[in-house]
Amino acid sequence: MIAWVSKHYKVKENPLIAEIEQHLPQTQCAQCGYPGCRPYAEAIAKGEAEINLCPPGGDETIKNLAELLHLEIKPLEKEATEKRVAWIDESKCIGCVLCIKACPVDAIIGATKQTHTVINSECTGCDLCVPACPVDCIEMLNKDELQEKIKQLHQG
Ligand code: SF4
Ligand code: SF4
Ligand code: SF4
Repeated sequence: MIAWVSKHYKVKENPLIAEIEQHLPQTQCAQCGYPGCRPYAEAIAKGEAEINLCPPGGDETIKNLAELLHLEIKPLEKEATEKRVAWIDESKCIGCVLCIKACPVDAIIGATKQTHTVINSECTGCDLCVPACPVDCIEMLNKDELQEKIKQLHQG
């Protein structure tokens, strides 16, 4: 009965949500304070969130959202921080796959009980995998720190 009611009396979703979401970068990094681009779009559509909370989208996203919603352009609330990527210390990794489950963009590869690796080009720097690791073997590194780690590995 509940399924029938929901099918026949389905509450129509606000089409504005999809329009707003089209302007968001879809990295699902949660830096806006919402668990992904869709929830952020929903909050904007409801008038509960400002349009300047998405660091990956930056000024371009703010401009597009301001045009769409006929709002004033505002500066980015939180300055985009220096790009960092996740690094896994493979000597400590126990292959629990929890980091893979936490990563919203599939930037981590690895199988159960095998070491895991981050695909740097896919990593958005969202940090979500760091608290998921039970053995603390993931750290966030900037470009220089990453190069240093790679150098050490080749020397070691
Ligand atoms: S900060 Fe931007 S890219 Fe990241 S989840 Fe929020 S809307 Fe999406
Ligand atoms: S690897 Fe970690 S920091 Fe990079 S996108 Fe995935 S969850 Fe975020
Ligand atoms: S959460 Fe940590 S220990 Fe588990 S697979 Fe990922 S890096 Fe390895």
